[in-house]
Amino acid sequence: MADGLRLEGLSKHYGDNIALADVSLSVPDDTYISVLGPSGSGKTVLLRVIAGFEQPDGGTVQFGGERLDGVPAHRRGIGFAFQNFALFPHLSVRDNIAFGLMYRERDPVIGQRALRTKVEDIIELVGLTGLADRGVHQISGGQRQRVALARTLVTEPRLVLLDEPLGALDANLRGRMRGELRAIRQRLGVTFLHVTGSESEALAMGDRVIVLDRGRVGQFDSPDTVYNQPASPSVARFLNCYNIFAGRLEGGRFVAGQAAFATGGTPRAAAESAYCIRQDLIQIRSSESPPRDGEAGILASFVTSEYSGASVQYFFEADGGRGVEVEAHLGHRRPEELMPRQPYNLVWNAEQAVVFG
Ligand code: ADP
Ligand code: MG
Repeated sequence: MADGLRLEGLSKHYGDNIALADVSLSVPDDTYISVLGPSGSGKTVLLRVIAGFEQPDGGTVQFGGERLDGVPAHRRGIGFAFQNFALFPHLSVRDNIAFGLMYRERDPVIGQRALRTKVEDIIELVGLTGLADRGVHQISGGQRQRVALARTLVTEPRLVLLDEPLGALDANLRGRMRGELRAIRQRLGVTFLHVTGSESEALAMGDRVIVLDRGRVGQFDSPDTVYNQPASPSVARFLNCYNIFAGRLEGGRFVAGQAAFATGGTPRAAAESAYCIRQDLIQIRSSESPPRDGEAGILASFVTSEYSGASVQYFFEADGGRGVEVEAHLGHRRPEELMPRQPYNLVWNAEQAVVFG
């Protein structure tokens, strides 16, 4: 299929509230795309505009080389799986899935044999074999999520929009469904646009990640690039794994309150100046071991730590009460014994900082 999905200059506002501001991007076919952004950043509005449930104030949506302006939602060949499942409570798993096929406007499936085959195929694909005749109130939350997905997929959409599809599941199931969703998409060879507020989910699932920042595309890159080279301080903030210091560049160093950090590479131009260092790239050293050549660091006192099995999160306080977090993975070492309210040098390789000036 030619061209995938192309958005050009999409904007949408509600009164004074800007939901989408000049969103332009091209999404290739046969790809898993995550859409990451905090609550209110425009994720749902973006999906609703693409699906055709909402008209944009400006800009265009093209799909497979065709402009979709004015094409009603049910004729777009786009599937939408809603966050709250929206299943028919009085119908069985099979009938919930068949419903969309029997009643779709274009090319409804009415032959009983054809219908049964399509529905059976999709039930197997999403892992619901054996549950077809159960009522949807007789299955678990995770299984209901699969029914919702199956109901979308059975109509053979060319593009599938998923609005926080794993949000209602417990952590265990969420982890398993991540891999399954990726596998299902791969087998179908269609594009999934998966909206999530979880940075770990976005990075784990997307071949590419769109970061939405107050209705704008803050970044559109591979997960690795987003994680290691966030395009702005806001993107770094959404990733939840960076310490972000406000301050300014002065003579090749970054001055943040009483601290001054070596900068390593060339700072990037940005509207907001900030010095960002990932929490897992920081070493904790004694107060007598300041940063050496090529390193940057800050003196901070230990507050508390949070143990979570494979890693520990250490919380420190630097001058002015500013919090600094250090994440240590425990694979090859034991948790450090730190003294509360004692000072430590938090040190990192200056090259690994992401600096905006
Ligand atoms: P999220 O990223 O959490 O999905 P949304 O896309 O739902 O965010 O909303 C983006 C912005 O648009 C928010 O500020 C929201 O309040 C606003 N918004 C969305 N839908 C409507 C609506 N129907 N009426 C008024 N404001 C809306
Ligand atoms: Mg939403």
